[in-house]
Amino acid sequence: MRKLAILGSTGSIGTQALDVAARHSDRFAVTALVAHSSSEKLFEQVRQFHPQIAALSVEPKEIPADIRESCQWMFGENVLLDVVRACDADDVLVSVVGVVGLAAVMEALACGKRVLLANKEPLVAGGELVTEAARKAGHPLLPVDSEHSAIFQCLQGSPEKGRVRRLILTASGGPFVDYTDEQLRAVTPQMAIKHPVWAMGTKVSIDSATMMNKGLEVIEAMNLFNLPQSKIDVIIHRESVIHSFVEFVDKSVIACMSMPNMRLPVQLAMTYPDRIESYAESLDLAKLGSLHFEYPDYKKFKCLSLCIDAAKLGESACVA
Ligand code: MG
Repeated sequence: MRKLAILGSTGSIGTQALDVAARHSDRFAVTALVAHSSSEKLFEQVRQFHPQIAALSVEPKEIPADIRESCQWMFGENVLLDVVRACDADDVLVSVVGVVGLAAVMEALACGKRVLLANKEPLVAGGELVTEAARKAGHPLLPVDSEHSAIFQCLQGSPEKGRVRRLILTASGGPFVDYTDEQLRAVTPQMAIKHPVWAMGTKVSIDSATMMNKGLEVIEAMNLFNLPQSKIDVIIHRESVIHSFVEFVDKSVIACMSMPNMRLPVQLAMTYPDRIESYAESLDLAKLGSLHFEYPDYKKFKCLSLCIDAAKLGESACVA
């Protein structure tokens, strides 16, 4: 049994992790659940998973009587750190949104816990601080982001540094990849949150529509895999069947493929170094028929260019 704490349990990744935990209840004990303000959703999760600690950064008016005594409750701005310190989890899934996750990641590593990282900003802003803390903790940082999970998987069996020629991050391109400048001017937030392939939280959906998300992922990959920006390419791949590639020095390329389903990278991080059955749909390449690739338009997606410029400049620019 692995004891799991989830920071951001009511979000898209958090709920999918709980779904994996529920389907494999012989393997996972959920010891702590933390949400920002979605109290009703958290109450439901407490009823189903019986954690030892439940926490909300925004204190609710009332806790329902049936679960009031069932666990320890924590509230307030510092719940992420409070819960990381107080819980006895082996693994901490950090699936909160934004740079707020950085301190929690550092604390979890300092406590010797394994970090399953779905939150991009800790690596974007924390860079070497985070990777160094993970080294000291003696655990690999386990990426939950589909692209980084893919690269992590492609690199299994090739641990030696210097054998990677480049990483190729795939991007679906988001809902506006074919829009002209004229059409882009009329785009609304509602249009931006309708992603063609992935169902995600609002912030990540908007970042995905502007390709800021892919830019953050380039910086994340640099830090996670200790490579310069010049060794990381981005390619548009609308079907999102190949989750990323690694090209090695001999120019052999390994790709990680599956039908798009976030539960796979979530589950692999939860079970690593094991692989177990999943409920994902099996890949049928003949049925798909073809896969497509194209270069991103760096002029149109200025946020992507901005991130790459920041990555070239170095860590302070990434923090900014
Ligand atoms: Mg991603």
